[in-house]
Amino acid sequence: MKAAVLASPGKIADRPLHIEEIPQPKPEAGQVLLRVLACGVCRTDLHIVEGELPSLRSRLIPGHQIVGEVVGGATAELPNGTRVGVSWIGGTDGSCWYCRNNFENLCDAPTFTGYSVNGGYAEYAVARPDFVFPLPAALDPLYAAPLLCAGIIGFRSLRVAGAEPGEKVGLFGFGASAHLAIEVLRHWGCDVYVSTRGASHRRLAESLGAAWVGSELEKPPVELDRAITFAPSGAAVVAALSSLRKGGVVAINAIHLDRIPEFDYDRLLWGERQIRSVANMTRADARDFLSLAAAIRLRPQVTTFALDQANEALPAVKNDAIDGAAVIVP
Ligand SMILES: [Zn+2]
Ligand SMILES: [Zn+2]
Repeated sequence: MKAAVLASPGKIADRPLHIEEIPQPKPEAGQVLLRVLACGVCRTDLHIVEGELPSLRSRLIPGHQIVGEVVGGATAELPNGTRVGVSWIGGTDGSCWYCRNNFENLCDAPTFTGYSVNGGYAEYAVARPDFVFPLPAALDPLYAAPLLCAGIIGFRSLRVAGAEPGEKVGLFGFGASAHLAIEVLRHWGCDVYVSTRGASHRRLAESLGAAWVGSELEKPPVELDRAITFAPSGAAVVAALSSLRKGGVVAINAIHLDRIPEFDYDRLLWGERQIRSVANMTRADARDFLSLAAAIRLRPQVTTFALDQANEALPAVKNDAIDGAAVIVP
């Protein structure tokens, strides 16, 4: 099969993915074989490819927003032909304290798709049957792919921030995750305030119903109940914090962040304001989000890339050169 393989991390400008012909994976016991129909490109892929997250395998196929069709290792629940999604959480041990207490997103021994095991920048991939999510047949693979990490993690961020219907919510950064989160928030009747770089991102935010749109670190004109930062920038966290009412929450949706600049505790955190990080996802987040996405007919903006163009898809995401999400179609 054809796959995009990362032999050693490197700057994306140096085209670190090698497009190769390699043997198709064989499903072992407890695995299903998927023919990959589409695989979304996530910002976390950049951190893996560029080595900001430590390398776990000598040769890795990245990609953790996989839409695939079961073609091997079928089970009664997942017969051949079932269309499923695979996300960042590829498995957990099921036995640690976190797994036993409804925090499987924090499992001590997790499997991460496209990081600790091979992912979906390929024509075929294997996955654990208990960590794939059957998708409605009506959902186009292209539009389902970005829902599987950007969408689910964005949804979890809203939960971590404690967003309630009708609240004022700020989004700092407006990439793949935020442009899905705003649609959920609008569905909940929230007023959404978006601070982001790039005129096209600001136009997209406006078209999706933002109550106010400003530049990267600009402060919304009202005090926010909640804020979520999507930009991998510590300065955005401080900007979000400075926009909160007392008791408000900032949720940081970033697996990797540059340093958070020093800030004034008395003015910015005092008053029971909170900063929380958002780590991974649970299967319940995935199921709840995917059913909500189907109900509100969530359809992300996507730009497609062939597998041969994987090295072009990465900079497009890194440089915010496209609106919405990048999706590789093998
Ligand atoms: Zn665990
Ligand atoms: Zn991701």
